[in-house]
Amino acid sequence: MTETPPLLVIHQLEVRYGKIPALSGLELQLAAGEMVCLLGANGAGKSSALKAIAGLLRPQSGEIRYRNEVINALRPDQRLRCGIALVPEGRGIFQALSVAENLRLGSYCRADRQTVKEELDAILDRLPRLRERLKQRAGTLSGGEQQMLALARALLARPQLLLLDEPSLGLAPLMVQEVYRFIEQIRAQGVAILLVEQNTQLALRHASRAYLLKAGRLVYSGDSKHLHADPALRQSYLGA
Ligand code: ATP
Repeated sequence: MTETPPLLVIHQLEVRYGKIPALSGLELQLAAGEMVCLLGANGAGKSSALKAIAGLLRPQSGEIRYRNEVINALRPDQRLRCGIALVPEGRGIFQALSVAENLRLGSYCRADRQTVKEELDAILDRLPRLRERLKQRAGTLSGGEQQMLALARALLARPQLLLLDEPSLGLAPLMVQEVYRFIEQIRAQGVAILLVEQNTQLALRHASRAYLLKAGRLVYSGDSKHLHADPALRQSYLGA
């Protein structure tokens, strides 16, 4: 019997900004429908990893394999069409555009307008506050609403792999809960999620496995439960 290959396989990935190394020899795997977190202190290389997977940064060497194809040479828009969507740190919302216009941008790569409309309707059923604010300028939304908008926009590209960079950043605790409830719903639909979070406890509660980076190098990978239960291990790498 042949085993299904993982959705994403990263092998020996090196990313540098000029002479500054951001990632050295990263190894990471993600199965379809799995939620995994990537942790580390400021500057550890987490955002660089997400950007390299989304095609926004060109690695110096190493391999990014998605659905068993090497995708290093694909442009960001081609990766989006293949089902890789990034919600960047700061959310990437166009503040001056309306909520509806921001959502429309999420489906620009799709030709099936009728299905997009139905999917958008289904998403807005789950996010009534966004539905009420469709005509409003996105910059007037609260931080939490903007995060929901960023997630909704990413969903309209029909991702199989969602890359989330600090979704809880700057949000009040109640809003964090709401955002994570939505993220859990997305995962339950079968979308794989690679999650970057400063909030370690939160990430470990939601992700099944964790990868821990220190100065661009992988120092731990394993069960979230194990890392959660080992404060000494967390303290030594995260100061958490
Ligand atoms: P943070 O939580 O602060 O976003 P991070 O773990 O996401 O940190 P990265 O943003 O990936 O880390 O940064 C990794 C390393 O690369 C750091 O040393 C950082 O200073 C450097 N770096 C990141 N972006 C650039 C850039 N545009 N130009 C030069 N160096 C950069």
